[in-house]
Amino acid sequence: MLEVLEPATEAVLREIPRADEDDVDAAVERARDAFPAWRDLAPGDRARMLRRLATAVEDHHEELAVLEARNAGKPIRDARGEMEMVAQVFHYYAGAPERLLGDTIPVSGGQAWTVREPLGVVGLIVPWNFPLTIAAWKLGPALAAGNTVVLKPAELTPLTALRFAELALEAGLPSGVLNVVAGPGSTCGARLVSHSDVAKIAFTGSTEVGRSIAAGAAATIKRVTLELGGKSPNLVFADADLEAAAAAAPGAVFGNAGQDCCARSRILVQASALDEFMSHLEAAVSAVRVGDPLDEANEMGPLISAAQRASVASYVDGEGGGAPVAFRGSAPSGSGFWFAPTVLCPVDPGARAAREEIFGPVAAVIPFDDEEEAIRLANDTIYGLSGSIWSGDGGRALRVARALDAGVLSINSNTSVRVATPFGGFKQSGYGRELGPHALDAYSEVKSIFYATS
Ligand code: NAD
Repeated sequence: MLEVLEPATEAVLREIPRADEDDVDAAVERARDAFPAWRDLAPGDRARMLRRLATAVEDHHEELAVLEARNAGKPIRDARGEMEMVAQVFHYYAGAPERLLGDTIPVSGGQAWTVREPLGVVGLIVPWNFPLTIAAWKLGPALAAGNTVVLKPAELTPLTALRFAELALEAGLPSGVLNVVAGPGSTCGARLVSHSDVAKIAFTGSTEVGRSIAAGAAATIKRVTLELGGKSPNLVFADADLEAAAAAAPGAVFGNAGQDCCARSRILVQASALDEFMSHLEAAVSAVRVGDPLDEANEMGPLISAAQRASVASYVDGEGGGAPVAFRGSAPSGSGFWFAPTVLCPVDPGARAAREEIFGPVAAVIPFDDEEEAIRLANDTIYGLSGSIWSGDGGRALRVARALDAGVLSINSNTSVRVATPFGGFKQSGYGRELGPHALDAYSEVKSIFYATS
């Protein structure tokens, strides 16, 4: 059995059967059997089915939000927002089946055109930080393009995926189109990667596991998209609205207790503005309310597990490359995997805390002198997922945005994810794009057809 814990209490929330490789094989077979009928469904009918999935999530919004909040330890307000996004994703991709357009291409001797074909059975492997949300980013375009899927949630957070699969069946999704296997990555995930009947793996998780998935997928030339780790910069220039930048910074790095691939965990501040920025930041950090995920007043919950807390602590308790703690917020004591929001300053760009993805509520503040140094420091990382630029000079903000090696940037804001815009990384943050119109490319093949007319 798989014991699913509640991170805020450390108590067992539920016990569920632990899937193994045979369960994966059976799920792939069901998905393969369901594929021809799902692929051949009229586009308008597939669109209607996706709308029904969106409605099912809306109808069970609070139930799903509470389940996610308890299992992932995230504040209920965040969980509600995430469930709204899940519904939005299905609404958005309900528009896709009837708009998967091709090209007509001028050639001699006939007509040439392109169509988009689904891939077949797609394996979706997702992490524990935004369990159903990240699954939906993959499910929406995969199903819209006519694929059937096997979804493997993280062992720590399988509950909303399992519940969603039940709701999807009740909503009328044909049996076998969506299959969930809740089991370990080393067995179930690895089996999906090696399975010869799986055409593609869409993976979100750590860069380390992503690397092994890309290597494993090579054996069958499986298509792969990878959304991996990050160490994103939040660049604050002296000409920015420093109060606004400091007020927004905690949400950008302590949101989801810092367990966010887009966390702006390196705050790069122009040295001439450092003191003023830090005094605003200290006030903002001490105001962050950390506690019971189900209390509506709270903005941050616990970490996901004891192991995660030990790993995060290693960056603060003397091993952070010597980075001094500038100030910390508060956190409950007692049971639960709690960790107070922590700001390190000044952090040497070569320090561990400045280079590694901590995946917890720890921000490294790094001073810089000018625009050239800001860009150099921001790009001095193996990652390239997201980032923010705070400046009152629009020309500078746009120049810097073009110079940063990252897939998702925001100016005078810390937003990373919108359903309608593409999301994904440069460098070792992965490849492929989710969300927006671009995601559909990753779930379909372009076919070129020529019809001889003479
Ligand atoms: P993880 O890589 O340990 O696990 C992710 C998923 O992969 C889980 O379902 C796990 O069971 C599975 N898995 C583990 N080993 C496997 C294997 N050998 N073969 C196949 N599947 C395997 O990541 P995590 O700890 O769950 O999540 C945290 C990581 O995810 C962080 O690095 C974070 O940055 C990243 N992340 C990235 C994004 C993004 O969009 N770029 C979003 C969220 C999280």
